[in-house]
Formats: sequence, structure tokens, C-alpha cells
Amino acid sequence: MESGLSARDRVGVQDFLLLDNYTSEAAFIENLRRRYKENLIYTYIGSVLVSVNPYRELEIYSKQHMERYRGVNFYEISPHIYALADNSYRAVRTERKDQCILISGESGAGKTEASKKVLQYYTTMCPTRNNTQSIRERLLQSTPVLEAFGNAKTLRNDNSSRFGKYMDVQFDYKGAPIGGHILNYLLEKSRVVHQNHGERNFHIFYQLLESGDGALLKRLGLDRTNPQQYHYLVKGNCPRVSSISDKNSWKVVSKAFTVIGFNEEEVEELLKVVASVLHLGNTQFGEDEYGETHLTTEMPIKYVSEVSYIPVLSLTHKKIVAKGEEMIGPLSLEQAVSARDALAKAIYGRTFTWLVQKINQSLAFQVKCSSVIGLLDIYGFEVFQNNSFEQFCINYCNEKLQQLFIELTLKSEQEEYEAEGIGWETVEYFNNKIICDLVEEKFKGIIAILDEECLRPGDACDLTFLEKLEDRLGGHAHFVTHKLANGKIRKAVGREEFRLLHYAGEVNYNINGFLDKNNDLLYRNLKEVIMMMIVRRQSNFRFTLLSCGQAATQFKLSLAKLMDILMSKQPSYIRCIKPNDAKQPGRFEEVLVRHQVKYLGLMENLRVRRAGFAYRRSFEAFLQRYKPLCPDTWPNWQGKLSDGVSTLVKHLDYKAEEYKLGRSKIFIRFPKTLFLTEDALEL
Ligand code: ATP
Ligand code: MG
Repeated sequence: MESGLSARDRVGVQDFLLLDNYTSEAAFIENLRRRYKENLIYTYIGSVLVSVNPYRELEIYSKQHMERYRGVNFYEISPHIYALADNSYRAVRTERKDQCILISGESGAGKTEASKKVLQYYTTMCPTRNNTQSIRERLLQSTPVLEAFGNAKTLRNDNSSRFGKYMDVQFDYKGAPIGGHILNYLLEKSRVVHQNHGERNFHIFYQLLESGDGALLKRLGLDRTNPQQYHYLVKGNCPRVSSISDKNSWKVVSKAFTVIGFNEEEVEELLKVVASVLHLGNTQFGEDEYGETHLTTEMPIKYVSEVSYIPVLSLTHKKIVAKGEEMIGPLSLEQAVSARDALAKAIYGRTFTWLVQKINQSLAFQVKCSSVIGLLDIYGFEVFQNNSFEQFCINYCNEKLQQLFIELTLKSEQEEYEAEGIGWETVEYFNNKIICDLVEEKFKGIIAILDEECLRPGDACDLTFLEKLEDRLGGHAHFVTHKLANGKIRKAVGREEFRLLHYAGEVNYNINGFLDKNNDLLYRNLKEVIMMMIVRRQSNFRFTLLSCGQAATQFKLSLAKLMDILMSKQPSYIRCIKPNDAKQPGRFEEVLVRHQVKYLGLMENLRVRRAGFAYRRSFEAFLQRYKPLCPDTWPNWQGKLSDGVSTLVKHLDYKAEEYKLGRSKIFIRFPKTLFLTEDALEL
């Protein structure tokens, strides 16, 4: 506990629950700013950790720091991610209850770095079991491999995770890490064929071209002398990034492959896919005099078929079923280009899933697993100028996580009050179930309507989808289009948009591309092509063919599964904040931070936690700290702990409305009470 008014003024409070003016957003942000200026990037809201990206290496992650946080309680030492990691670990050890750590925040806020710090804490500090040393290494080395294939340089983050990740770390009964398991969500496959200006494709492409062994590149038909020739790599016009060394990363990834247990053949098979994506990107089409589409490039296609076994015909023709007979029909030029891109995205996406499965095999535990700590590193709420299907899925995911958060926070708050016998105090809060239902309800929700429209033959298109949404959901309190009930036009929503009133704010979604993206557009014969690739590859290299369903529904089902996993565990939260867009240390931009405080729901979070008591501490800890303040409890209280606390607070003149005594803890309603007591200690 930081004590003394001057210190508090300078560095703010280490727990937002102790803010006097806890409903003021300005006070909240000022507290963050003060701490950030002092390089204090961590602050609590009760058991929630708020972290502000320092954009510089701080000297707070050494082994000595880890040791300092082992076994200590939150309030005894300044806030740290290790305190949270240790707390979860202790709960696993002492209560045998599975834990999960949910990390959220916008792109570049520090989620992935946070999850790495937690993982490092466990792999460094937990006891070792005989021969579990290699599991620790494998747990750590899974990260660079997944980052090579799933991360990319974006405008917001030079190492942006373009997929959601949930990772279980499994422990044996002695608390030694013995295995892990990874689930991945929504890889941004569109990046394989297109990047916005200033952005790159996934790291692995550049790493392979820059540093792959000459003989290997020759086998793959790649030419490193002119990386600019690969169309899929130059859309963003950003081949190099000053903060990234593709050469070093390649070394790290190559070593990681070995540690995880990939053999040379498997690595080469994997890189063949990377190469075939590049060759596909360089495959060009033209039209002959009869208007038929044909290939105009020979070399890339030679490699496409040799390296990845893709039949050339499949790129210019499709199967048609007419009068019960299967025939081969030509694709138009435009169709051929989009089939080529669809194929590139599909094989990359499926390879990524295969990679995760392969890592999971390597992390599978050999001895009995006793308990689990799950780490969720998933995209935060996104609002851009133009929001599409991807933002819709991401924001729906955040809506579900918020629901889980409310349920579990209130539930645990209620359970604690009940366990302590101090009665439940009603807390008013906004239950966002109504928005989750709006999106996911069977037959009625947005996803159901989208699926229905995707399956409807005839004139179904994005606009008919929007009309259906208007028809069925027009009156919903959280759904809005440009049409007002009185027949007038709402200017703030475009004619090709719908607006959702999310718990964190309003978002307009542009419906263009919703149907195609939901269908995960892949022509039927391309699916067969992928099947063929699987058969012709070595048996130890099998892609997983995802069941072909509508994408949003697949996502809904995998989210539902994730929610079940998280519900069965005790959660802790890390809320990450990005202090500036320039990726620079020391810059705290208020407008940007305010935006995130809102979208992360932090004020609501604080309000819910403060609705009851600001502060609670076990009788033992309370007495231990404040016993010098009362002659009857100093130097030692001999009687019952609860009587000691009673005596102490009477002596300190606490009023009845300021506190309550539970069975094992004292609950203090207002921060001021505690500050005055702290100040008395100083005197
Ligand atoms: P995305 O959603 O795009 O994946 P993210 O929230 O995972 O973003 P990170 O990749 O974790 O963001 O962080 C972005 C960058 O910020 C890191 O590459 C690193 O440079 C810096 N950073 C984040 N956290 C820390 C930290 N605790 N200490 C030092 N630098 C950090
Ligand atoms: Mg990340």
C-alpha cells in the first residue's frame, strides 16, 4: 500500500477502488496518467489488472522480480502482472480450481506481450518434474512458430496477432507444468492475398525469402534476389520494417521447429505451402479470342502443380452439374482471379490449423494433469471508419466475453458476501444478454438470418440480407438502420449499413461482402482440389478440412465452446491500454486512452466493484498492519481475531456505515476510511 498523501498525489492510487471520485472518468484517466509518467504501468481495479503499454523495456521482469511476487498478496506490493500470475497459480495449488486469465485490449495494447510474461512466470517459477524441462521449452517455443505464421506488421502494431488464441497450461498435482493445448480463432486469411498500404503479409513469407537456405529456396522455386516480384507480398508496399529482423526471426523459428519436434520433412512440407501461396499469387490469367479464360504465366503454375499438387485446370474451370450430369465449365476472368485468391487463402488457413494441431501433439501431457490455467489473448472491441464482417465477429466475441465477465464478477462478489455472511447488496448493471441474443439467437438472430440468406437460391445478396434484417429486427432496441419509423432517413447510418448498439458503444457495419465472407467463398471444385492435395501429400502431413458450414455460425459454435471452457474456471482479467498511436514511450494521449477506457468497460467495471465495498482484507492481515494504532492490540492481540479487529476499529472511531465484519474479513466501504488509517500509521 502506498502511503502518505504526497506519494499518492504523485503516483496516484494503485487500485482504482481507492479513488475518491470513482464515477469520474477524468479522475480515472488522471490516475492512469500519473502512474504512467512514473513508469508504473500496472494498476488494479480490485482483482482486475489494468496495463498501459510502456513501449520501452522496463527493468521489472527479471527473475528477482518474479521471486519478489511469489506468494505475496495483491496489496502488499506494487501491482504487477506477476502478482496476478502468482495469484492464479496459488489458487490452482491450494483450491485445486482451474483458472483462466483473460487478456483484452485493442491492437498494439500489449495483450500478446502480457500473455508471454505470464507464460514466462510459470515456466521459470513453477517446480520442475523430472523430464518436464522439455515441456517448458516447448510451451515457450510454440509462440515464435505461431507468431511467424499468424502475426504480421500492421499500421497499429509491428507484430500484430491476426488470430485469437486460447492456451491451456496444464499442471501436475505438484504444480509442475506438464503440457499445454492451444485453440485458435478467426485467422485473418484475407491478408494472404491483400494488405493495406503500410502493412505486410504474415511474417513467415519474408523470413523464408530473406533467410531460407539457398538449396531449399531452389526446391521451392523461390528467388530471393527480387522479393518484389511476388504479388502477394507487395500490396502494402512495405517489404521491410525497422523494428523487425526477418533474419533473426527465421533463426528463432527454425530452432523452435526443432524444439517442438517437427522433423525436416514436415518443415519442408509446411514451407511448400508458403511457397505455393506465393506462386499462386503470381499466376495470371487472360482471355482468348473466344472469351475463354486461360493462364498467361507458365513458371509459377509449374511450381504450383509440382510443389502443391494443384491441378492446373482447377484454376480456370469449374465443375457444373446440369441435368444430373457433371460437366466442366469455364470460369470467367474475374471468377478465375477470385478462385485463385480463395484457394490461396484456404490452403494457408488450413495449414495454420494443421500447425496448431501439430503443436498440440507436441504439448500433449504424458502424466496425469491435475489442474489448468488458461490464457486468452483475443482481439478487443474494434471500431473503424469502415466496419465489416470481421469487426462484426470480433465485437460479437467481445459482447460474449463481457457477458461472461458480468456473470462471473457479480457471481463471485455475491458468493464472497454470502460466504462472509454479510448479506447481498443489489448492484445495478447493464446486462448485455439482449445484444448477444440479437446476434446469436436461433432462427431470429443476425447470424441465423445471414445463414438463411446465404443458403437461399436466387437473388440473395448483401442488400437482400439487409432488407431481411430491417424486416425482422427493425424494432429491436439495439438494432438500427437508416430508416426511421416515421419514414424519414437517419443520416448517421448509411444505406448499406446497419448499426448495433453494443455495450461498449455504437458501431455501423457495412454489409458489403457479408454473404461471401460468411460462405467462406470457395468454389466446390476448389474444395475437391484441397482434398486431392491431402491425398497426394505424405500421410504425416494432413490438412484438417474444416467442416464446411457458414463462417459466422462456425465462429458462434467455437465461441460457445470457449465460453463453456471459461465458465468452468475462475477468471482473472488483464485489460491492456495503448497510450499512443505512434508506438512511442512516454506519450500518454488522453483522447485515445479515454476511448479505450470506454470500450473496455472499465468505468462500469469499477462501478460494479464499488457498489459494495471498496476494500476487504482478512482479519489477520488487517490486524497485522494496523495493530500499532491501538494500545489494546499492540504489540500482540491474544484473543479471537474478529474481536481484535472490533477493538481496533472502535478505537479508530470507524462509524457503523463505514465497515462490516464478515466471518473472516473486514469490508470497508469508502477508500477515505482506509487512507486515514494509513495516514495514522505514518504519524
Ligand atoms: P494485437 O492485437 O495487434 O496482436 P497486442 O495487444 O497483442 O496487439 P503486443 O503485440 O503485445 O500487442 O504489443 C505491441 C508492442 O508493444 C510489442 O511488440 C512491444 O514492442 C510493445 N509492448 C507491449 N507490452 C510491453 C511491455 N510490457 N513492455 C515493453 N514493451 C511492450
Ligand atoms: Mg497480439
